[in-house]
Amino acid sequence: MSAVSLLDHLRRRVAAEGPLSLPEVMADTLTHPRFGYYATRDPFGAGGDFVTAPEVSQMFGELIGLWAAVVWQQMGSPGWVHLVELGPGRGTLMADALRATRPVPGFHTALEIHLVEASRTLREIQGRVLSDYSPTWHDDVSHLPDGPAIVIANEFFDALPIAQLQRTGAGWHERRLAFDPESGAPIWTLTPGMSPLAALVNPRILATARPGDIAEVSPASLSVADVLAKRIVGQGGAALVIDYGHARSGVGDTLQAVQAHRPVDVLATLGEADLTAHVDFAALAQVVKQAGGAAHGPTTQGAFLSALGIVQRAQALMAKATPEQARDIEAATVRLIGPDEMGTLFKVAAWTGPMDAPPPGFEA
Ligand code: SAH
Repeated sequence: MSAVSLLDHLRRRVAAEGPLSLPEVMADTLTHPRFGYYATRDPFGAGGDFVTAPEVSQMFGELIGLWAAVVWQQMGSPGWVHLVELGPGRGTLMADALRATRPVPGFHTALEIHLVEASRTLREIQGRVLSDYSPTWHDDVSHLPDGPAIVIANEFFDALPIAQLQRTGAGWHERRLAFDPESGAPIWTLTPGMSPLAALVNPRILATARPGDIAEVSPASLSVADVLAKRIVGQGGAALVIDYGHARSGVGDTLQAVQAHRPVDVLATLGEADLTAHVDFAALAQVVKQAGGAAHGPTTQGAFLSALGIVQRAQALMAKATPEQARDIEAATVRLIGPDEMGTLFKVAAWTGPMDAPPPGFEA
């Protein structure tokens, strides 16, 4: 453990710079190279803080691999394409996707693997898991090399910083982090002046919000969507975005801290818990359309995986499994597509060029 904690670091910043915006707090909390949550641990799995879909079952990455292979065929099976993953975690999704697509003629020889990952700790794990495929790492989507690209992002956008604006009688003010002068405890404050970020809030919400309502905007997410959409429109490809979120912009505080599989208080656990916010799929779709692209969905994870054949895949695996393994496969399937589990909470969207055929799972 370093002598200086994230909390000390934030306290020093507030002392020097004044109250910190939520995007600054989230960026430091999650991706600061020394103190950040993802820089200092491997949070995935039963012994960690949370479990993601690729860690639930190999079927998730396999089906997404086949999705990518069909998209490549829809593109006319080009001899060269980037397969890009944003925030690959342990590399499990990509490893399962590549194993499942080995039999697709010509696909692997066309592929160049690129990973966008902030955490050095996770890069090392990804490097071990994907050593057969010589991936290249990037800090940011804007650093990806030119060329047609199929982009996968599972639980990436929910980790990108958001700002929260609160409606008062006078207008919109931004929530910032400060420290109570008496107790030294972290607290939220509101900026006294009007926030320019209100320009990013959905007009319907600007018109209907009531005092006390919170609107969230994620300039970082909008910028990633813009970069991806522009390159897909200009150079070909598609993006698949899977995340906890809502199809329609709304009001409400969705900032969530999770530790050891349980929701915990954001301020009380700063630096020790994962921080995420719901993804505003409508806001991202708007950016994609402005860039000239097409936004498909969002559909639910349950509907998407069912359309890709998860039930048939589970049955095929179960036919070769021991009774105990078969029970695990069945439980994993329910976890991924069950309406009370990840099946409806998680949404799936695809972004393509304007004239491209809808990708698998988005035909209807
Ligand atoms: N996709 C994986 C991991 C999800 S957790 C899975 O489904 O299991 C979020 C991932 O995004 C982690 O790998 C984290 O290190 C990475 N990440 C978070 N914020 C990032 C940022 N701003 N830039 C690049 N990577 C980021």
